[in-house]
Amino acid sequence: MASSSTRVSLLQLNNLSYNLRKISPFSFLRPSPIRRPMNVAASPSTPTHDSSPPLLSTKKADRWKPMCLYFTHGKCTKMDDIKHLEVFSHDCSATLEVNADELKRLRSQDFDYLLVVDLEGKVEILEFPVVLIDARTLEFVDYFHRFVRPSKMSEQRIGEYIEGKYGKLGVDGVWHDTAIPFDEVLGQFEVWMSNHRLWDRMHEGALHRSAFVTCGNWDLKTKVPQQCKTSSMKLPPYFMEWINLKDIYLNFYKRRAPGMMSMMNQLQIPLMGSHHLGIDDSKNIARVLQHMLADGALMQITARRSSGSLESVEFLFKNRIV
Ligand SMILES: [Zn+2]
Repeated sequence: MASSSTRVSLLQLNNLSYNLRKISPFSFLRPSPIRRPMNVAASPSTPTHDSSPPLLSTKKADRWKPMCLYFTHGKCTKMDDIKHLEVFSHDCSATLEVNADELKRLRSQDFDYLLVVDLEGKVEILEFPVVLIDARTLEFVDYFHRFVRPSKMSEQRIGEYIEGKYGKLGVDGVWHDTAIPFDEVLGQFEVWMSNHRLWDRMHEGALHRSAFVTCGNWDLKTKVPQQCKTSSMKLPPYFMEWINLKDIYLNFYKRRAPGMMSMMNQLQIPLMGSHHLGIDDSKNIARVLQHMLADGALMQITARRSSGSLESVEFLFKNRIV
C-alpha cells in the first residue's frame, strides 16, 4: 500500500511539473493555426500555387496538449481521470493529420512506409521514438516510444544525467518510471515492426518496402552502433541504410537547412511540443516529411552501410549536408 500510494503521488508530482510548463512562455511555442506558406514549394519541376489550404488539420492543433508519456509506454493508469485527460493528450495523431485537399502534388514513392526516428542521449541512448507515416497517403499510422536506461552508468550518474536532460522538460519522473535497457527496447521494437509487417523476425534482413528517416546521419550512422557496442549486441540488420531528410531537403528545395528547426522555419511549420524531447522532435520531423511529400519530394536512401565493413558508410547523394 505504502509503495503504491507513493507511486501515485510521484505520478501526480510529475504530471504537475509537466503541466507547469504550460504556463512558461519559454518552454515551448504554442502553435498558431498552421498555414501553408505562400511560396515555399520550391521544387523546380512543380509549379507553386498561392492559396493552398493548410496541410495539417488545424482543428486539433488548436487544442494542442503535451502527450501523456505513460500512455506512450502503454502504462497510463489515469484513463478514467477527467482532469488528467484534459491536461494530457492520449492521441499521438493529433498534430499529424493531413488535409486531403493538399495531396495533388504527391508523386509515387519507392517505399510504402517511412519510420521517422530521432534518438536522444549523447553518452548513451536515453530515448527511442519512432513515428510511422504512410508514404503514399501521408497519414500517421502508429508510433513506438521507449525511454532507454543506460547499461554502463552508475545509478548516481543516471540520476544526474536524467535530471540535466529531462528535468527541465518536467519528464524526469516518467523517465525513471518507464525506462528499460536498450536490448529490451529493440526486442519490443522488433515485435512492433513485425506486427506492422515492416520487418520479418523469422528471416531478419532489411525492412520491407519501408525506410528509416532521420534528421542528419548521427542517429543511425554513429549512435546506434555505439550503443550496440556498449550494450554488447550485434548491430541489427535493419539499421543498414536510411534517409537523411536534410539531404533530400537540400536536393529538392535547392537550399540548405542544417537542422530540424531551420527546415521548420523555412517551411513555416510551427514547432509543437518540447524541442529535444525525442517523441516531440520525431513528430515535428514527421511534419516536415509530410510537408515535403506533399510538395512532391521523392524519398530515397541517402546513406548505406557496407555489409563487408559495418564501419564504412556510403553516401549516395553528391550534394549533401556534411
Ligand atoms: Zn495518461
